[in-house]
Amino acid sequence: MNENTRSHIESFLRYAEDLRLGPYYRDRKGSPSAASAMKVPAAAETAASSAIPATSSSAFERRMSSAAPLAAAAQERRVPIIQVSTGASLFEEHIENDSLERIREYIGDCTRCKLHKARTNIVFGVGNPKADLVFIGEGPGHDEDVQGEPFVGRAGKLLTQMIEAMGLRRQDVYICNVVKCRPPENRLPERDEITTCSPFLVRQLAVIQPKVICCLGACAAQTLLETNQGISRFRGEWFDYRGAKLIATYHPAYLLRNPNAKGEVWKDLQKVMSVLGLKPKQRR
Ligand code: URA
Repeated sequence: MNENTRSHIESFLRYAEDLRLGPYYRDRKGSPSAASAMKVPAAAETAASSAIPATSSSAFERRMSSAAPLAAAAQERRVPIIQVSTGASLFEEHIENDSLERIREYIGDCTRCKLHKARTNIVFGVGNPKADLVFIGEGPGHDEDVQGEPFVGRAGKLLTQMIEAMGLRRQDVYICNVVKCRPPENRLPERDEITTCSPFLVRQLAVIQPKVICCLGACAAQTLLETNQGISRFRGEWFDYRGAKLIATYHPAYLLRNPNAKGEVWKDLQKVMSVLGLKPKQRR
């Protein structure tokens, strides 16, 4: 197989994995070709696996289709693309003198969605409340649930390494998730859980006012950009999110399973570094 074909297949499989499709296999006995042996789920199944239900034409889709020629031109000229943001969400009213403490207090000992039943701790967020850079994951896993802090497990250690490679320390940035309670068995957060919890994330971002938001994985990106599109379609592109620059990259847990994608993530992080004027950590 030549390099080009391999790279196309790898990128398709990564895209499918983002959508949690698969497993892919080849029925060597029955099937005449690998392509026809691939299990491609029906559109309805694809939509159901996404964080946000399909709409006929979301703001994101409209932006993406109008941005496509821009994207091609920009790639040639190597300039970043900033799309126009959507309007304020239904949840969002400006809250006078809002603060992270107030949001945490407002969340309280939350029972607003079913995730509260199995959680140990609410995992609100950690880091610099005035950070220029915010990383957003999906939801706490086991270690995070036990410790009450986001990204402290295996994926978290990789995230910390990524932050340090960017010349920063964990305490320089802010780290949080779309949902604040652990989904059982580490399943994806469900639509109703995201709808209930994401207004707190929106408020956190409004208080912090970061220059850059880095979405780790499809859930965070789809939630903030209000889209069903697979992350591979827009990973590494710049969006405007209410005045902040937003970029999506692969989730560190995905990188643990697919170390070959680290190069792509590093390219995305370098874009962030260039916007924030950061220099990579010097190796000794
Ligand atoms: N994965 C996430 O998305 N968030 C965490 O806090 C930990 C793992």
